[in-house]
Amino acid sequence: MSLSYHHRPATEKPLHPAPAEEVQPCTCTQCGTDEFLVPDNLQPSFLPTGARGWEVTYWCSKCDGFYGHLTAGLPASWRAGTT
Ligand SMILES: [Zn+2]
Repeated sequence: MSLSYHHRPATEKPLHPAPAEEVQPCTCTQCGTDEFLVPDNLQPSFLPTGARGWEVTYWCSKCDGFYGHLTAGLPASWRAGTT
């Protein structure tokens, strides 16, 4: 499944941060846990503060919720699969 509603420039480096975006932890707000999250797309990015972060999309296999936002860190179980 691939939903990409974020416009990305064709270059690897972001041209500018996206201050309008919210920085949130990766969690399902409906279930209140990251236990059931399935990563969809993980893109290294920069937070509005200029710090390194990730632009992530993921869905929750329990409630089928779909999320996309900036985050400062990934759940440990995701990080293992990103390299
Ligand atoms: Zn959920």
